[in-house]
Amino acid sequence: MNAFIVLAHPEPHSFNGALVRAAQDSLRSVGHGVVLSDLYTMRFDPVSDRRNFASVKNSEFFKQQIEEMYATEVHGFAPDVEAELRKMEACDLMIWQFPLWWFSLPGILKGWVDRVFAMGRTYGGERFYENGVFKGKRALISLTTGGPGEVYVKGGWNGDIHAILRPIQRGILRFTGWEVLAPNIVYAPVHLSDEQRQASLDAWAARLRAIETEQPIEVGEF
Ligand SMILES: Cc1cc2nc3c(=O)[nH]c(=O)nc-3n(C[C@H](O)[C@H](O)[C@H](O)COP(=O)(O)OP(=O)(O)OC[C@H]3O[C@@H](n4cnc5c(N)ncnc54)[C@H](O)[C@@H]3O)c2cc1C
Repeated sequence: MNAFIVLAHPEPHSFNGALVRAAQDSLRSVGHGVVLSDLYTMRFDPVSDRRNFASVKNSEFFKQQIEEMYATEVHGFAPDVEAELRKMEACDLMIWQFPLWWFSLPGILKGWVDRVFAMGRTYGGERFYENGVFKGKRALISLTTGGPGEVYVKGGWNGDIHAILRPIQRGILRFTGWEVLAPNIVYAPVHLSDEQRQASLDAWAARLRAIETEQPIEVGEF
């Protein structure tokens, strides 16, 4: 199996960084290939506009999805976008590792999605949800929070974490055809003991060693 990990954290020695290193070691230990896009280290440009393209369909008026469909036709994506598209297309399992920022993805990862999930190449025509472009491939989001687990329940202080994650799991991943696996969530790593943090790294590594046989989840509706 080929795994593609996308990391969005500005500090390599963060707990998010540790989760990625655990994932890489674990997946490789059972023979899977791992490709990593460490967005901050790559200095990935998250701003989406004409820079996404080497080709131009309409130089007078920029409409991103029109340019995306044209770039799909003429192989006209900018090299940084094309490289990420190829990594997604080549993988069987994609993992996003990020800290929850403002109930959502960090901007650099949202910008990566805005630029890389291009119309024509990653969705469009009849290709959505169960008939999506990435049908048969699996995706898993792995995140950390500042708040503890008890505030992320329905009716709780911050509300149901699964509802918070639905725009990502349904609106991006399922929309483009990925089979979504259960999220890996480490709540408030800052407030855990070293032993608890090590236990969550070990549990993540153990889960990934057996990931090939895991079944997808229902991401829910709105
Ligand atoms: C802009 C912004 C918006 C935010 N929005 C939200 C929000 O909406 N909801 C919310 O809940 N939180 C929010 N937060 C908080 C954020 O989600 C957490 O700070 C983050 O998830 C914690 O993960 P980390 O990797 O940064 O932890 P770190 O602070 O890097 O690590 C936590 C602890 O783990 C230790 N550690 C590192 N490596 C290892 C290792 N190998 N083994 C054991 N221990 C290790 C570190 O030393 C540290 O003590 C926000 C933060 C920011 C900056």
